[in-house]
Amino acid sequence: MTHRLSRRIERLTSSLIRDILQITQRPGVISFAGGLPAEELMPELDFGACAADSRQYGPSEGEPLLRELIARGLSGLGLRCQTEQVLVTTGSQQGIDLVGKLFIDEGTPVLLESPTYLAALQCFRVYGAEFHGMPVQAEGIDPDALKAAIVRHHPAFVYLIPSFQNPSGCCYSDAARRAVAAVLDETGTPLVEDDPYRDLVYTSCDRTPVCAYLERAPWVYLGSFSKITAPGLRVGYLASSPALFPWLVRLKQSSDLHTGRTGQAWLAHFLTSSDFGKHLAHMNGVYAERRDTMQTALERHFSGLADWSVPAGGLFFWLRLVENTDTLAALKVALDHDVAFMPGEPFFPVTEQRYPALRLNFSHATAEKIERGIALLSKVLGECAVT
Ligand code: PMP
Repeated sequence: MTHRLSRRIERLTSSLIRDILQITQRPGVISFAGGLPAEELMPELDFGACAADSRQYGPSEGEPLLRELIARGLSGLGLRCQTEQVLVTTGSQQGIDLVGKLFIDEGTPVLLESPTYLAALQCFRVYGAEFHGMPVQAEGIDPDALKAAIVRHHPAFVYLIPSFQNPSGCCYSDAARRAVAAVLDETGTPLVEDDPYRDLVYTSCDRTPVCAYLERAPWVYLGSFSKITAPGLRVGYLASSPALFPWLVRLKQSSDLHTGRTGQAWLAHFLTSSDFGKHLAHMNGVYAERRDTMQTALERHFSGLADWSVPAGGLFFWLRLVENTDTLAALKVALDHDVAFMPGEPFFPVTEQRYPALRLNFSHATAEKIERGIALLSKVLGECAVT
């Protein structure tokens, strides 16, 4: 290349998931790869009157009514949150990016779950983060290990997905949430809590945001409308402790001035004029069925090949393979058989913590495709084990 690019470009990796998504658009492919909500459950997007009032530039913080509705929802979850602490973002992915810009210089230590959301890794890596991973266990991360890691690494922040974690599906127990909050308070470590799956719940479980239990530590809470309405709207939000908020707004200003107004106006209208509870209940009913269909198919075809837990919510099964398997190589073979999954490798912040695993989405494919796809996949993986 003849022109000079920034040093951070050397750390920029392509998003494997977005690359795979392109391939899975091919007709006939059964895809368990992306975290795609089901189109047939998305509300109609009729912008109507919303569009007319959305032509002019708007406030960087977001549309006032939408911010107010979000603040009300967050207060209902126990978060001490005023409307003035809510920033509407262009998907919660933008919230992740703003957090990266806010906290990370080259070599800044960041603590996160292992495995964790690969696009957060991709984003924080570009800013120069040095990752330290904490294994995700059945009830979340171990609070004692968290304390030890904070004392050792002095992270700029801890990034967690406590409800239906991507990719593991883990939902922290209330005791773990409180214990994690106590450690963060004691050490004054900022928490970035990413919570896009909280409303996709099929088996009741504790979901009070960890941020709600914090007394002193700074926090940023990230939410999203992608999974519960339509991801194409690109509307998410963040709320933060008061001292961080003005910085996040300025970073948002320099990033895109504000999130598109039409989508925000439509959401405010949808939240106030429809029976949102009914919409969610219907969506969760369908996803619960698909989860159960996948669980039955997995029991039939993956027993002995992998270990997994049934997720109480969210969009994914996380399979820990019994045999050592190159899952990236297995994906290529699987695609030749018109079935796709997400290899586990890119979800690990540090290579030493890797184990052979795969992530399977259950919200997008129909029951018939789930059964057929899981049968196909078990054959492919059975043949790809490296012993
Ligand atoms: N955080 C997590 C954990 C996710 O899984 C996703 C989407 N896959 C996002 C953030 C980004 O979601 P969006 O930008 O659509 O709100």
